[in-house]
Amino acid sequence: MARIVMKFGGTSVADMDRIRNVARHVKREVDAGHEVAVVVSAMSGKTNELVSWTRDASPMHDAREYDSVVASGEQVTSGLLAIALQHLGINARSWQGWQIPIRTDNAHGAARILEINGDEIVRRMGEGQVAVVAGFQGLGPDNRISTLGRGGSDTSAVAIAAAVKADRCDIYTDVDGVYTTDPRIEPKARRLKKIAFEEMLEMASLGAKVLQVRSVELAMVFKVRTFVRSSFEDPDAPGMGDLLNPPGTLICDEEEIVEQEVVTGIAYAKDEAQISLRRLADRPGVSAAIFGPLAENHINVDMIVQNISEDGSKTDMTFTVPSGDVEKALRVLSEHKERIGFDVIQSESGLVKVSVIGIGMRSHAGVAASAFRALAEKGINIKAITTSEIKISILIDGAYAELAVRTLHSCYGLDKS
Ligand code: ADP
Ligand code: ASP
Ligand code: MG
Repeated sequence: MARIVMKFGGTSVADMDRIRNVARHVKREVDAGHEVAVVVSAMSGKTNELVSWTRDASPMHDAREYDSVVASGEQVTSGLLAIALQHLGINARSWQGWQIPIRTDNAHGAARILEINGDEIVRRMGEGQVAVVAGFQGLGPDNRISTLGRGGSDTSAVAIAAAVKADRCDIYTDVDGVYTTDPRIEPKARRLKKIAFEEMLEMASLGAKVLQVRSVELAMVFKVRTFVRSSFEDPDAPGMGDLLNPPGTLICDEEEIVEQEVVTGIAYAKDEAQISLRRLADRPGVSAAIFGPLAENHINVDMIVQNISEDGSKTDMTFTVPSGDVEKALRVLSEHKERIGFDVIQSESGLVKVSVIGIGMRSHAGVAASAFRALAEKGINIKAITTSEIKISILIDGAYAELAVRTLHSCYGLDKS
């Protein structure tokens, strides 16, 4: 007997037929004698619809009310799955975030989980009841519903798995694992049997939305054995109930990976924008004068490039922000123009950040050079570059996103098995 948390994403619960199929996956594990808790997302497209309604109600809406609206999608699917399970003769009960409770901080719209009391769920699992938990939602310190940011049901699932000390957390989605790159962009992408936590963290934070970044952090910290696998396969196909080696991708410590490649995957993030400040005074404090006000206004700055000045007095500074924040950033910078002291401000939206990720880069030289050469051969111009020990990120024009992903994917031989 094992204790398993099963999470089903939006496409897996998109309609009643899919929810019935999910119930069969759950039944398989219950019939095998395991204790099971389930976490569900809203039906696919639902959260987007709810978000757009809050914007329609008022572009400058209250984040607490945003949360009470957008959390509702998961309330529906948790109840429907509990009913579908009961219909199959399984003892099941739905749970909203506040009923457990899943305690979060006060950052409505992007809250972080602080504490989960798993006692009641554990007690009921012991009595053979399946808990069907609404993902994405929690309870803030103000006793109001909070939500965990887009894709947050992954984080709900891993956090609950940690709280109930589950043997495994299975993230069921519309692909059968984590691939070398988004299989929707590159059909030659290969499924990885295992990926290291650090690599998955980079993949997720650099745009691969298959897992929310925070869920990977929690899995790493609390050592939750997490698999990404498909809900679309026949729930009763051979091997689906394999306890130690289920189909899919295991997120694990790098020591568990025997054959480590230099590059593991390629990720991309759309909707990046670049802002350049021209002819800035080249003196101490100028960066603080630029990035301080942006941070105070909650604008996330990513890549930063500063040119050397020709005569030691003036320089240029270029950096990226999410496209949705450009207008706000330009306004904030213009308000501080005098203190910063720049001549001209320029911006360009519709850019894409393509990233090459792999732990093997730590010990291999020339990985970046190969990327630059491959992109140059395709005539793709590079606008900015950042690197860390295990990743290289390259900013390019959005029109070349798919070509760049495919070019880098084949440049490192990722399409060859
Ligand atoms: P869910 O609704 O189940 O949470 P998501 O849409 O959030 O599913 O995440 C799954 C999607 O992530 C896939 O359909 C795929 O297009 C995308 N994706 C991006 N990068 C990768 C990758 N490297 N491996 C697998 N899927 C990826
Ligand atoms: N339904 C939420 C979203 O679309 C949470 C999730 O699916 O993980 O972002
Ligand atoms: Mg998701």
